[in-house]
Amino acid sequence: MFFHIDIDSFFVSAERSRDPSLRGIPAAVGGRSNLEIFDPAPRGVRLMDENRGAFVAPVFHSGPKGRFEEYFVDRDGGRERIRGIVTTVSYEARALGVKTGMPIAQALRLCPELIVVPGDLLFYHRLSAELFAFLRERIPAIEQFSIDEFFGDGSGWVESGECEAFARRLQGEIFERFALPVSIGIAPSKWIAKLATGFAKPYGVYRVEEVEPFIREIPIEEFPGIGRGYARRLKERGICTLGELTRHRRLLERWGKPGITLYRRVLGIDGEGIAPGASRQSIGISRTFDPIGDVEELRRRVVILARHAGYIAMKLGFNPTRYHLRIRYRYGERAKGSRRVDRIFGEGVLKREIRELFEEIHLPGGEAVKIALSLSDFTRNHPRTLSLLEWERDLRERRLSRGIQRIRERFGLDAIRTADELLKPPESGAGRRKVPER
Ligand SMILES: [Mg+2]
Repeated sequence: MFFHIDIDSFFVSAERSRDPSLRGIPAAVGGRSNLEIFDPAPRGVRLMDENRGAFVAPVFHSGPKGRFEEYFVDRDGGRERIRGIVTTVSYEARALGVKTGMPIAQALRLCPELIVVPGDLLFYHRLSAELFAFLRERIPAIEQFSIDEFFGDGSGWVESGECEAFARRLQGEIFERFALPVSIGIAPSKWIAKLATGFAKPYGVYRVEEVEPFIREIPIEEFPGIGRGYARRLKERGICTLGELTRHRRLLERWGKPGITLYRRVLGIDGEGIAPGASRQSIGISRTFDPIGDVEELRRRVVILARHAGYIAMKLGFNPTRYHLRIRYRYGERAKGSRRVDRIFGEGVLKREIRELFEEIHLPGGEAVKIALSLSDFTRNHPRTLSLLEWERDLRERRLSRGIQRIRERFGLDAIRTADELLKPPESGAGRRKVPER
C-alpha cells in the first residue's frame, strides 16, 4: 500500500505552529510581489535578525511577522491601499468564502475578522525539511513530492491490515512533534493515494481498497497531472469523469506516452514506485513587472534573482545541480531553458550559468514582464559525481561564497552585490563593498 501525506493548509498551519493564537480562527497567509530587490540603490543596509524573519524580506517578500500594516498597507498621500494576494487559507476562512489567489483587500471585505500573516517561505522550507527527515525514520521508502506532500511505500513495512492504524499513529506523532495537521491517503498505487488524500481532508485518513469504484465519479480535473489543456481535450470528447476516461483506452494510446501513462495511473496499474532519490524539491524565485525591453536591465535583473536564489540555497545547505530560467513577455510569448551543472554550488557558478542561459533563450526585441529562476536536483537527493576538473576552483569559490553568505546574514542581502548588478560605474556606491566577477 502507498501513503500520501499532505499537510493541511500548510502555510497557515506552519504559522499556527509558532503562534497558537492563530488556531481555530479564520486566518490566511498572504504575499506581495516585492520589486525593491531591483532597486539600484537599496535604502540602507538591512539588519538580519532571523528571529524577526526580516532577513527573508527581500527574498520571499515577507515582512516582520504579524505586522500587517507595515507589510500589506501602502500609503500615498492620505490614501491607504491594502496590497497583496492570499496564498493559503485556513479551513475556518474557507468556510466564509475566502480563496487562494484572492486579493487580500477583497478577502477582508468578505471576512473582516480574517487575520492575514505575511508569508515566510524560508521558515516553511525548513519545517518541511524537518518533517521529511522525521518521516524518513518512520517509512524507509519515502519521497518528497512538494513542499507539503510526501509519498511513502508501505509494502514490506506495514501490514496491509495495519495501514490505517499506522497512518493515524503517524498523524498523531506529527501533530505532537510539529504541531502540524496532516491528512493521509492510502491506496494500492501512488497517484490514487494522492487522490484519496482529498477525501481525507482536513486532518483525516482515507483508504481506497478498490480503485475502479472509487474513481468512477471523480471529475477528471481532480486527478494529479491533468492540467487545463488536457482536461479541455478530454472534455471535447465527452470525457468528464475518471470512470469515463478508463473506457477510452484506444484514444489515450493514440496520444502517445503521456496518454498511456495517464490511463495506467488513473486505474492504479502504473506500477510506479517511490523515488527516494527523485525529490521534486526546488528553490524558486520570480518577479513580475511592467514590460522591459532593455536587454542590459533584464540581464541585471536576472543576475539579482540569481543572487537571491543562491543565497537561499546556501542558507538551506543545498547543492542544486540544475538551474532553470523562464521569461514571460508582454504578449504572452515565453522562453525557458535549463542547465545541468555538476559542480560545487556557489554564487559565481550560478551567476555565470544563468547569464549564459539568459543569452541563449531571451527573445530578441522581446519586452519581458516576468523572470523566474529555480534551482533543483540537489545532490543530497541526486548523488552525482561532481566535476573533478573544476573541483579546486569550485571549492575556492565556495569558500568565498560562504564568506559572503556570513556577511549577508549579518548585514543584509544587499550588503554585497557583484559588479554586473550595478547600473553604472559606481560613483555613488560609496561604502558598499563589491566583489568583482572573476
Ligand atoms: Mg497541503
